Amino acid sequence: MATDDRAGSGRRRGSSPGPRTGADLGRRRRISRRRFLAGAAAAPAGLWLSKAVPAAAATGRSYGPDSACDLPHDVLVRIWRGWRADRSGRIVLVPHGLDYLAGGGLVTHSTPWGYTQHVPMCWYGPGIKPVGIVNRPVTSADIAPTMARLLGFSDFRAPDGRDMAEVALRGGASKPKLIVVAVWDGGGRNVLDLWPDDWPNLRGLVTRGAWYEHATVGSNPSNTAPVHATIGTGAFPRTHGCVDILIRFPDGRIGDPYSRGPDQAILVPALAERYLAAVGEDAVVAEFGTVPWHVGMVGRGSTTGPQPVAVCKKLGANETTAPTWGLPRVIAKHYRFPEYVNDLPRLDDPRAPYFRYADRIDGTIDGKWRGHVIRNQLGGFHTPARIPFQERAVEEVIRREELGTHRETDLLFLNFKLIDEVGHLYYADSPEMSDSVRAQDRCLARFVAFLNNNLGSEWVLLVTSDHGHTTRPKVGGSYPLDQARLRSLVASRFDRDEDGVPLIRRIRPPWMDIDMEELRENHVMVSDLTRFISRLSRADIGRPGGAP
Ligand SMILES: [Zn+2]
Repeated sequence: MATDDRAGSGRRRGSSPGPRTGADLGRRRRISRRRFLAGAAAAPAGLWLSKAVPAAAATGRSYGPDSACDLPHDVLVRIWRGWRADRSGRIVLVPHGLDYLAGGGLVTHSTPWGYTQHVPMCWYGPGIKPVGIVNRPVTSADIAPTMARLLGFSDFRAPDGRDMAEVALRGGASKPKLIVVAVWDGGGRNVLDLWPDDWPNLRGLVTRGAWYEHATVGSNPSNTAPVHATIGTGAFPRTHGCVDILIRFPDGRIGDPYSRGPDQAILVPALAERYLAAVGEDAVVAEFGTVPWHVGMVGRGSTTGPQPVAVCKKLGANETTAPTWGLPRVIAKHYRFPEYVNDLPRLDDPRAPYFRYADRIDGTIDGKWRGHVIRNQLGGFHTPARIPFQERAVEEVIRREELGTHRETDLLFLNFKLIDEVGHLYYADSPEMSDSVRAQDRCLARFVAFLNNNLGSEWVLLVTSDHGHTTRPKVGGSYPLDQARLRSLVASRFDRDEDGVPLIRRIRPPWMDIDMEELRENHVMVSDLTRFISRLSRADIGRPGGAP
């Protein structure tokens, strides 16, 4: 039974303790255990995958709703904030400590544990009062209300977040003309702490602005879609409804939250929605990321009034063709796509500097990046080449949209996803990750210089992240648990009616959705299922070769 919530271990472990149990709850609405369990009982939640310690698994409190009592309080709260009966998997899976439920060879960072929850939260701007390190715990839900205050916009009340009051303008500083939120996707504190020498520019801002040492995303699972919606709305997934990268829609189908448009993904208005509706043409709101999950930062856009600018990647013809920019059709009518970004040099244009950038960043000019043929990595998109490529396009948006020149404050939301991509491809402890963090940090220096040159002193920048990432099992001491193996063990134990309908509809790292009808037909109680799963050990479902 893990009661320890430290940041993920790595070669340089221990430099980043997660927030202490319960400490981040003192000033918030407290969630009673009874209240959580009342919800859990309606649709059974709380399941404990034990380590290979049968005695621990057999305590009788380790499965079903009662297992919630065994979880550290802050972990339990994150699960509560991230789960809703109508859209989440019916059973919550909480692997032990650093273990994770792997599927299709993918690593996951979707956990309620500190090592994936702990994120950078650094506010800076020429007009921001330098307060340095702030030890008060905050979450991603606190971003939107803080922005609202900086904007002087009182027509927004964050459902769950609270203002980060330490972020304040210096005496005499005027209201910012532009506020930028930059998310280093997957660049949680456990990743940064693995590579402490690779982000000198971000570190340089610590004492020059407000650096929240105990910032967490605050809800389970820690992954892209829910946390970006949290950043945009000031609400946790329990409120905004974008509970995971897959949700259950009202008709029972499970799919990407944005697959039916942004207004089905997010159920409450984002700060940017309210703001744009209020200021109209007097300000511009823009978002630049690569996938629809990132548009959660500006909310659902509009089909009738002023629209935020939004950019995603548009995949090329094959694995060696660089993506361009675009908007998927399902979200396109809610946002305004700035066509001009595709007039810039392509990522794989031989005259462009981007491939050379990726070639050089590993310290060896050999036409490759860490031995990888750059073009073969999605036309360079899965290499550091993509960072200056995207940065250039972002600068173009700032220029062409004339951000920082309008009557009211403009808003710009950025997502840079290379760190996350590289974490999935090579793990957080890889040399590829070192390069990616370094590229991201260099980009920060360039971006700050760009803002200084173009906007003078009237801008504010937040650098944060949406989750941490996973180290190689043998480095972190974690153990991948096999989703397919779990599925087949459950099927062979409980699914006896041979009607071809699977008992388990879907397994995701943080949850499992079951077919309740099929469960009844097999005369199985949910508690039978959760008890069975809670007693599985690494020996049962650990992936061969995944052992430390
Ligand atoms: Zn992410």
